[in-house]
Amino acid sequence: MSEVAQYALRDGIAVITLNNPPVNGLGNALRAGLMARLQQAEADPAAKGVVIIGGGKAFSGGADIREFGRPREKPDLFEVNDQQDAMRKPLVAAIGGFALGGGLELALGCHYRVAAPKAQLGLPEVKLGILPGSGGTQRLPRIIPMADAVRLMTTGTTIPAEKAKELGLVDEIVQGDLLEGALAFTKKLNSGEPRRIRDMPARLEGDPEAFFAKVRDQVAKESRGYPAPLEIVACAAAAATLPFDEGRKVERERFNRLVNTAESKALRHMFFAERQTSKIPGVPEDTPVRPIRKAAVIGAGTMGGGIAMCFANAGIPVTVLDTTQEALDRGIEKIKANYAATVAKGRLAQADMDKRMALIVPKASLNEIKGADIVVEAVFERLDVKQDLFRKLDALMQRGAILATNTSTLDVDQIAAATTRPEDVIGTHFFSPANVMRLLEVVRGEKTAKDVLATTLKLGKTLRKVPVVSGVCDGFIGNRMLEKYVQQSLFLLEEGATPAQVDSALQRWGMAMGPFAMYDMAGNDIGWEIRKRRARERPDMVYSRFADRICEKGWFGQKAGRGWYRYEKGNRKPIPDAQLEEMLSQYRKELKIPVRKIPDDEIVERCIFALANEGARILEEGIALRASDIDMVYLTGYGFPPYRGGPMFYADQVGLAKVLDSINRFKAGYQGSQWQPAPLLVKLAGEGKRFNP
Ligand code: NAD
Repeated sequence: MSEVAQYALRDGIAVITLNNPPVNGLGNALRAGLMARLQQAEADPAAKGVVIIGGGKAFSGGADIREFGRPREKPDLFEVNDQQDAMRKPLVAAIGGFALGGGLELALGCHYRVAAPKAQLGLPEVKLGILPGSGGTQRLPRIIPMADAVRLMTTGTTIPAEKAKELGLVDEIVQGDLLEGALAFTKKLNSGEPRRIRDMPARLEGDPEAFFAKVRDQVAKESRGYPAPLEIVACAAAAATLPFDEGRKVERERFNRLVNTAESKALRHMFFAERQTSKIPGVPEDTPVRPIRKAAVIGAGTMGGGIAMCFANAGIPVTVLDTTQEALDRGIEKIKANYAATVAKGRLAQADMDKRMALIVPKASLNEIKGADIVVEAVFERLDVKQDLFRKLDALMQRGAILATNTSTLDVDQIAAATTRPEDVIGTHFFSPANVMRLLEVVRGEKTAKDVLATTLKLGKTLRKVPVVSGVCDGFIGNRMLEKYVQQSLFLLEEGATPAQVDSALQRWGMAMGPFAMYDMAGNDIGWEIRKRRARERPDMVYSRFADRICEKGWFGQKAGRGWYRYEKGNRKPIPDAQLEEMLSQYRKELKIPVRKIPDDEIVERCIFALANEGARILEEGIALRASDIDMVYLTGYGFPPYRGGPMFYADQVGLAKVLDSINRFKAGYQGSQWQPAPLLVKLAGEGKRFNP
């Protein structure tokens, strides 16, 4: 077995190579190996200095997150750091690829750091709801200015080597071979007293109290719902005011507290959930994929334009088509305006915009796309229109091309059935705005080929999306669940709540946007159209007719200047509408619904448990492969707060037995017939189990 920490002597310098692929995660074995190698180097009379370098593509990606919250084997990184501090020989970290989290803390335990020009450095722990727990909060502000250290740690941003050098975190950038450069650097060092970061004062000028008061205010504003950023500030303050070892104690205490918070557990769940989505039973990750060199998008409307941008952003040439020149021109203009706005904000260079625009080629005839490797259809949401188009695509497209539909509600199998090659047909359900939203529901038809699925998942990642596989059903994972959420939000109005109350309760709980503000943004006419269709398909469906009333008045939302709220011209801020509230109370009287004051907790429970209950059905029907996929759909497509972990994880945290109790209570309440606990929920609650194992 190859050693996880290798030792070699090169020109009188000990070289310790981390060898724990893929990212040199600092798990139990590597920490123990490192400890032994550091001691060996210190004792080796032939070694005048020591270099730690990562084998493979990274210095180190940091701690093994799976070890969090479990008892860890000794030595921990803390003790490795102590060993680093005890070294009398100069100790140099040679950073290639990336040094993140515990990886950077290991580098901070060295006396010097050199880096390859493309290296990335950072302490992203905050993104997992924790803080750098191995001296990072104490060492970083001693080597770079305090304000920068706080910023890096509270946002979790990574910085490139050049910036790290500017700040003082890196001593030298090595052009050419990293190890050779590190050896040359180490040889030049004096063998006198080593330069330990722990012995330096924090880099803060001026009064710490005033500085931290200001920082605390600012960070509190930016970190709504997240506990870690303020704890990081507290640790940074300790670095400025306490001796190093005292500061480390503060850090350790706060780390231990954070690691057990519900928020951190949720954020860690999200981290793993994202990595799970591409694991498909029966479709191994090395399934051969089809090459995607050229794409085509049909329909240059809201979605088609955004989807074309996704391809162009990824450097894939894309042809865009529509029925009329006018629609096509409008679509292209919209794309241009979209990019121009990003350029104006300074987030995209003009040259990059030009490159992307050059990749988007408008075409007037279907004939011109036949060489594309994938075609994504984003035309009107009508089965006959889509089937007609797929029939034509079947006749036209080269063999092996993937035929994808962006439908949000139609049956992908029926669309596929219009072709002679249903195995090449798949759903790619982008979310609006398609160039921004990370979620991509990949809808696997009954006959979709495995390599088509694997190719689409890979493409999703190339387009920087989070692809989540869904089976075919009305609304797929996300919108099918949303229907239950919408239903509850409207029943709440009928019973006495206002749109503003429902929105603020859910927003305070953490949703990026309240449901009614969301409906107004998406356009109330869309739901209305769907309801009309559903009324034909499922005449027994129970829903609040009040939503139809506002649509009959043309209150379609933001675009109409009026919806569930009023909007002032040029402003998207929702303003509660007294007239709507009057209509609502009239409506309650007509229906003889007794009005009551509904507590915020009930609003949240009814809306969120409605999601989880439908999610449970989706899970047991096999529409979703795993609970964490459902969570990812909500986290990346519906503004669900990451620190709640997704609807299924949240239900797990509350406890499924409790969730079931609440649902049974709702069953006895208003429109109680709409609450049928999902059999899977009942089963798991009875067994004391969770959706996410
Ligand atoms: P849209 O009305 O903005 O755009 C549709 C475009 O398709 C129009 O420009 C139209 O001229 C063109 N078109 C219609 N028939 C065509 C044909 N046969 N050939 C070529 N072009 C044709 O609609 P949209 O909002 O972009 O929705 C498109 C699809 O995406 C629909 O299936 C919709 O359900 C789905 N979708 C929409 C959203 C959303 O939020 N708008 C989200 C996810 C999915």
